[in-house]
Amino acid sequence: PLGVARPALLDLIAQLQAALPAGALAQIAPAGSLRRWKETIGDLDILAVSAEPERVMAAFQTLPPVTQVLAAGRSKSRVQLANGLECDLRVVEPRHWGAALQYFTGSKEHNVALRELALKQGWSLNEYGLTATGRGQAPEGTERFFATEEALYTFLGLPWIPPELREDRGEIAAAQAASLPPLIAAADIQGEVHGHTTFSDGQNSIAEMAAAARARGYRYWLVSDHSVGLGITGGVDAAKLAQQRAEIDRLNAQWQAERSDFRLALGVEVEILADGSLGLADDILATLDVVVASIHSSLRQERETITARCLAAVRNPHVDILGHPTGRLLGRRPPTELDVERVLQVCAETNTVVEINAHPSRLDLNDIYARRAASLGCKIAISTDAHSPTDMALLEYGIHTARRAWLSPADVINTRPLAEMLALLK
Ligand SMILES: [Zn+2]
Ligand SMILES: [Zn+2]
Repeated sequence: PLGVARPALLDLIAQLQAALPAGALAQIAPAGSLRRWKETIGDLDILAVSAEPERVMAAFQTLPPVTQVLAAGRSKSRVQLANGLECDLRVVEPRHWGAALQYFTGSKEHNVALRELALKQGWSLNEYGLTATGRGQAPEGTERFFATEEALYTFLGLPWIPPELREDRGEIAAAQAASLPPLIAAADIQGEVHGHTTFSDGQNSIAEMAAAARARGYRYWLVSDHSVGLGITGGVDAAKLAQQRAEIDRLNAQWQAERSDFRLALGVEVEILADGSLGLADDILATLDVVVASIHSSLRQERETITARCLAAVRNPHVDILGHPTGRLLGRRPPTELDVERVLQVCAETNTVVEINAHPSRLDLNDIYARRAASLGCKIAISTDAHSPTDMALLEYGIHTARRAWLSPADVINTRPLAEMLALLK
């Protein structure tokens, strides 16, 4: 999965840089599906520019995580890593960088579509650049090289297409029509609307989580612990929620006195019980700022049952956000049998926000469902579901999943200030 492959690859690049003298690598970047933030990764790909490719190859092949050299050439190596992944490193000439990065980033389907576009313009596209076919204006055999991807896309009459969109899902037509979406970025996020504390299975207090959220530059953070009775540590009932409210009021008053605009809000991650009722009564939910409803139990119900169960929650007037809708854990647990299309339709009808859970073990909704949700008119929340301050750094996985779903800041509720975000909820 991406959550394993990405840290491993970034670590490998850092080790390679440390093993070489400064300046030995003019460029180095991940390529392949990892650069596109695909949720599952086959092999790792690294691309580099260096005046000393042999030296780079020698250093690469002897890095500590490398257990076996599978192929060794002058400008390309393939190695086996201790974590079981295989990694390719290619060193290319500076003038080939743009075409090589484009080529090795893929996807294969995007590249096929791009090659067809180039052919229509009289150019054959490969990993080095463009060669004139003689059917366009340039004489046959004319070569064009590109120091950047931007230059290559521009030559073909397109704006640069972000790697997350390169799946042949309409991005080339959208680029030609100048209608690529203004994709969301991490800097657009103003706060989080799903996270845990020691009141349930979180590892830190409300104050500690708030401090971490403030340190990230957020303007708000939602305390949303599990409702009681889930069989995991703790959980909140009416009395615990009252304690949380008192603590939140105390901290908010303190920040107000300090003229800080950071605020905590109080919510819950209420369990959608096996029969579709909720783990807390409506009169309790009515007192909260935001209600996230999720399924963590009876995940193996058949399609009709689990869909009806989920729809009952979505139709509850107090349920604002549907958390990690399909319940999958990447590589460990398949999604539930949920009829996602039906659920998204009802979310759109009832103004229920759907979550992209950013935790790399979940990425739920995934890119395809999230894009479908937005096209049906659903609003989206991107949430790390943090159980500790370090989890908040996982936001980038949610952001890039949202980018793969073609989402703009306007599609996502937690790009808004707190009051504006709350006003969007039902
Ligand atoms: Zn959950
Ligand atoms: Zn949660």
